[in-house]
Amino acid sequence: MKIVAVNYHIYKPCNLRCRFCFATFRDVRESLAVDDAFRLLRLLRDAGCKKLTFAGGEPTLHPRFGEILAEARRLGFVTCVITNGARLANILDGQASDLDWLGFSIDSAREEAQAALGRGSGAYVQKVLALVDEARRRGVRIKLNTVVTRLTWEEDMSELVRRAYSDGRDGSFRSDATAQSGVTWTGA
Ligand code: SF4
Repeated sequence: MKIVAVNYHIYKPCNLRCRFCFATFRDVRESLAVDDAFRLLRLLRDAGCKKLTFAGGEPTLHPRFGEILAEARRLGFVTCVITNGARLANILDGQASDLDWLGFSIDSAREEAQAALGRGSGAYVQKVLALVDEARRRGVRIKLNTVVTRLTWEEDMSELVRRAYSDGRDGSFRSDATAQSGVTWTGA
């Protein structure tokens, strides 16, 4: 069996503390050295892998992520990064051409729900949408990754999705809009 797509959890640390996070990797002590990461990429390419998705933790926090992403591009992979946007602006500035896809982690259109889930302190949705706009301007394809929780399972996120795939210029979307209100947080 050929493995054509691989998720590479490149970096364990993360700037957020999502309550549902499974990416604790307690058995992983550190990241691969860059030379070893390059070697891994070559091995994957030689084994027939076509698509590489960088995940974490938060991959954009990896101190040498740009070099590894560039190497993935050089080797001909379709590239994707799953991100909460931490240091994505820098990557988009210098290396948008090395990116095919960005997967944005976003679980609600409501800032208070995102904050309750552990994603920042109240401006997460707006930050992600600004990065989505920037990515689309630079020709990077986007997708949204959503964890459904007890806090959000009844929420209609269609307006948020429409906003993400438009340029947002009509101003109709408000991230504090209560797509579903009255749900009490009791845990993920
Ligand atoms: S952003 Fe992702 S890796 Fe970071 S804490 Fe949240 S779920 Fe975990």
